[in-house]
Formats: sequence, C-alpha cells, structure tokens
Amino acid sequence: MFSPLTKQLIEALRGLPSVGQKSAQRMAFHLLGHEGRLKGKMLADALREAVEKISLCQRCRNFTEQAECDICQSRKRNSKLLCVVESPADVIAIEQTSSYHGRYFVLHGHLSPLDGIGPAEIGIPLLLQQLHTTETCEELILATNATVEGKATAHYIASHLSGSNIKCSRIAHGVPLGGELEYLDGGTLSHAFQSRLLLQEIN
Ligand SMILES: [Zn+2]
Repeated sequence: MFSPLTKQLIEALRGLPSVGQKSAQRMAFHLLGHEGRLKGKMLADALREAVEKISLCQRCRNFTEQAECDICQSRKRNSKLLCVVESPADVIAIEQTSSYHGRYFVLHGHLSPLDGIGPAEIGIPLLLQQLHTTETCEELILATNATVEGKATAHYIASHLSGSNIKCSRIAHGVPLGGELEYLDGGTLSHAFQSRLLLQEIN
C-alpha cells in the first residue's frame, strides 16, 4: 500500500505522542507533497541538529546545548531554592508564572518500579550528591505531579534528606489530584508555589 520509505516515515511519526495512524499518514503526505517539501527539509534539519546538539544540563538535567543551562549559569537565581520537577515542560510552566526565582532539577519522569524506572534512571543520585556536597540549598521544593507516582517520588527524595538541614516542601494547594503541572493555569500554579507545605508538617 505504501512505498517502503513512506511506510518508514509514517511509522516514525506514529512514535510521537498523541499521533495515531491517520494523523501520521496526513503529516507524511503533507511533508512529501509539493507544498510541504521545503517544510519537510527544514523539519529534518532542525530535528537532526536538535538531537545531535541538545543534551542534559550537567547540573539540573534540563535540555541545553551547553554544559550548563542558562538558568544554572544565571547569577540572578536564588541558589538557596531548588525545585524538583518531572519534566522540562514543568520548568516552562513555572517560569511563565514569574513567581519562582530559584533553580531547578529535572527528573525526566518519576519512580515506576514496574517499568524498571528506579532512582538512577531519574537522576536522583546526582540530585542527592549536589545537595550533600554543595551547602547552598536551604529549601528543596518537590513539585512533582499530584499523581500517585509523583507523590511517591517526592517522598522518596524527602526521605533521603531527613536529618539534613535542608527543608523539604511540596506544592499542594490548588493542584488537582492526579494533575500534571504542565496543564495548570499560571494563576493556580503560582498560588500553589506560594502556599507550599513543608513535608515535615504534612507527614
Ligand atoms: Zn541547568
């Protein structure tokens, strides 16, 4: 039905989130069509360059082309605050509220033992090593999603800091149960940050 390369393109597009067979097909035909060819070439170049040059920041694991991302390098950031999030999209959502000026740590997921995702897969050893070796952080804000896995991940991290001088807080207010930060409106997220709860108080 499809030529081998068309089939390969459709399969590749289907691997993207929220893209089914029909959408993949439509995209492939658009990119191969007369009007889409140039866009297709630009997309291919942008994609190749991105996957070759973008990697994880050595400090916070956010995406960057440099060894350390702009936020980690910025002197304007409050290094006493470190906010742990599940995804780079959460950093964007929080940055857009302009209500937080500390640094971040991006897990790229959450603990999920059944899927083989343990602490090492989401960078927790690097996070703990940073917290134990640099003494600048005073408060760790655990802004993982309000899902079962997100909460379990937050508690796992907090449990490794009990006995240290670092306060652990968790954003709570206004975050719906099962909610993902990325989809919250700025006002709710901003409020959730301001009214964060200390984990020692809720435990
Ligand atoms: Zn960084």
